[in-house]
Amino acid sequence: MKYKRVLIKLSGEALAGDQGFGIDPETISSISQELVEVANTGVQLAIVIGGGNIFRGVSASSKGMDRASADYMGMLATVMNALAIQDALEKLGVTTRVMTAITMREVAEPYIRRRAIRHLEKGRIVICAAGTGNPYFTTDTAAALRAMELKADAILKATKVNGVYDKDPVKHPDAKMFDRLTYIDVLQKRLKVMDSTAISLCMDNNMPIVVFNLFETGNIKRIVSGEQVGTIVQGG
Ligand code: UDP
Repeated sequence: MKYKRVLIKLSGEALAGDQGFGIDPETISSISQELVEVANTGVQLAIVIGGGNIFRGVSASSKGMDRASADYMGMLATVMNALAIQDALEKLGVTTRVMTAITMREVAEPYIRRRAIRHLEKGRIVICAAGTGNPYFTTDTAAALRAMELKADAILKATKVNGVYDKDPVKHPDAKMFDRLTYIDVLQKRLKVMDSTAISLCMDNNMPIVVFNLFETGNIKRIVSGEQVGTIVQGG
């Protein structure tokens, strides 16, 4: 295996299925099957889950809501997603822990770095919820932060397309996909990989990011075993 411990960033939309909103049980269960297959090969998995399928702080604040309050709502949305994915994963027989950056002991464990690492070592899938616990951040930044803290070998950023393109491949059929990019390329060309805070954090700490299509069966397994899948962003 090329990667022994990876952090998978799942956006909220990944759980929404075709409806584009909310949580679609069928979609979650097929994603979970992929994840469990990988976990069963012995690769340690941490997941950072987004909340955009339920609530996004920036959109609410653009309509007049206080940004910090809206962001806390966004973080709570990620906790709902985390519980949904935990349920689906555990139905498939793996042990998981949801760890939240905002303490809610009745619902999940608080995120404690050393404990999270211990769970991973024991083969449990760790689902990190509530982002960084701070407003004005995104779950992409939380993914970068947790990947560093948990000493992951790479961040696997799940998307609906095959990788990073020079323009939106959904709108432009002639869009070209990159196999490799440097962090600087991403920042300078303003490519949509993750937000710039997350990219900068990865750049400063040399954390590779693999952008891949979540809906192509077997992709995560291929990536961890070292196949070239999607776009890899790393130092030049
Ligand atoms: N959020 C936040 N701090 C964080 C992570 C998330 O305030 O550290 C809030 C923010 O309002 C964001 C929402 O949670 O809009 C949902 O997260 P995100 O938009 O990153 O989810 P995704 O796009 O991955 O579904």
